[in-house]
Amino acid sequence: PPRITEDFTAVLAWADDVRRLGVRANADTGADAAKARELGAEGIGLCRTEHMFMDAERLPVVQSMILAETTEERAAALERLLPMQQADFEEILTAMSGLPVTIRLIDPPLHEFLPDLVEQSVHVQRLEEAGTTGPELDDARELLAHVKRLSEMNPMLGTRGVRLALLYPEIARMQVRAIARAARAVRERGQDPHVEIMVPLVGFDEELRRMREVVEETWAEEVPGDDVPHSVGTMIELPRAALVAGAIAAHADFFSFGTNDLTQTTVGISRDDAEGSFLGAYVEAGILPGNPFASIDVDGVGELVRTGVRKGRDTVPDLKTGVCGEHGGDPASIALFDEIGLDYVSCSPYRVPIARLAAAQVSLGTS
Ligand code: PEP
Ligand code: MG
Repeated sequence: PPRITEDFTAVLAWADDVRRLGVRANADTGADAAKARELGAEGIGLCRTEHMFMDAERLPVVQSMILAETTEERAAALERLLPMQQADFEEILTAMSGLPVTIRLIDPPLHEFLPDLVEQSVHVQRLEEAGTTGPELDDARELLAHVKRLSEMNPMLGTRGVRLALLYPEIARMQVRAIARAARAVRERGQDPHVEIMVPLVGFDEELRRMREVVEETWAEEVPGDDVPHSVGTMIELPRAALVAGAIAAHADFFSFGTNDLTQTTVGISRDDAEGSFLGAYVEAGILPGNPFASIDVDGVGELVRTGVRKGRDTVPDLKTGVCGEHGGDPASIALFDEIGLDYVSCSPYRVPIARLAAAQVSLGTS
């Protein structure tokens, strides 16, 4: 009923007047970005670019890029992906015109792009048993060899994030090109794009220094007059990154704390297995107060966020800081982030109103 909607809107407007902490949303599509804006998001804090690669139509192109034997083959595959990425970014930047949009460069582990190792082994075995010969068997064997070479025992601690981008800088270049072209196109249509390019899984300042060079070089090629606002920053999602944040900040315009990975790597519990694992029994037995992936582990992960912000700001006093892990939509975690002095939290679009209220509550001292 309209009355409830009106009251809700009035309460949220009042919350916005009292809160200090900014509230952004995590969104990967134009539709999600529009929904987030409707719900009061003040920008996008995390646009994960992975889904753009996993789309059924695009995956074969991505596979051909990773399995390419020559630089030319890889360049050709990337050339096909570029306009698709550009279209994705145009939608999001249009929906968020006038507000900051943080686009994160590619993050998933390599193996996610490739067929499953076991399935591919079985496939080759079946072809051999059936007496198949010729190109079909040769191709299947070749693919199996590639999958074996690229498979890792611990992919979440393997070739992902900035490591992947440094190994295949042409992927990052393609993404930056797509972002820059999208921003220019949107600007030409009278909109106001504010792009923040974010590098994931940085643990060493040298990684960000090199990646920033790649990003800035490519940006300068695409936007010669540099007349479209852009900045470059990093996720802080490894304990080491928080501990050496001062050195990392020398190459960053902003930090965004990825508390999902930061929790996983700090408490040493797999984020993908947490649900059905020993964690439930631990919480029930009172060994842990709750699921640290849902509400921030104040003494461990919280301390690393605090350390990261302090060290980062020692180097760059006006460093912009936010959080884009799941905790950005959790009221208890929001209270800690406000106390630490982060500039904003970013959460899923439907949690934006909750985050606005939680941020107001902590400003009023009632949380
Ligand atoms: C994180 O690690 O907290 C994060 C936001 O990135 P992702 O969940 O995509 O790893
Ligand atoms: Mg992460």
